[in-house]
Amino acid sequence: MTDCIFCKIVAGDIPANKVYEDEEFLAFHDIAPKADTHVLVIPRRHIVNLNDLGEDDGALMGKLMLTIPHIAATQNLTGYRTITNTGAEGGQEVFHLHFHILGGRALPGF
Ligand code: C5P
Repeated sequence: MTDCIFCKIVAGDIPANKVYEDEEFLAFHDIAPKADTHVLVIPRRHIVNLNDLGEDDGALMGKLMLTIPHIAATQNLTGYRTITNTGAEGGQEVFHLHFHILGGRALPGF
């Protein structure tokens, strides 16, 4: 999608501080970190949010869940919080599916 900022990061059109990439996913430091370590994990494919997933996306999402601990380990995180915001009412500001990985200090419980 041409007007999607995360698609532009995937395409290499705008820079990002990448920490992980493979054929399907990319992870990079959040430009405005909300914790000592704040990484975003995104699928390369433009998916708006969880509501945009189809029945065929189960394997992709399963792989994403399995990749998150690996990405956290690259940041030396043993404990961390993983969040995805869905829709404007859910606090989503960038409409390309992403999971926040937050850590680096003890986080308060919900
Ligand atoms: O979940 P939400 O859509 O609110 O989060 C978007 C996140 O993307 C924000 O934390 C923002 O700082 C981050 N961002 C970024 N690089 C950009 C634009 C937004 O890391 N170029």
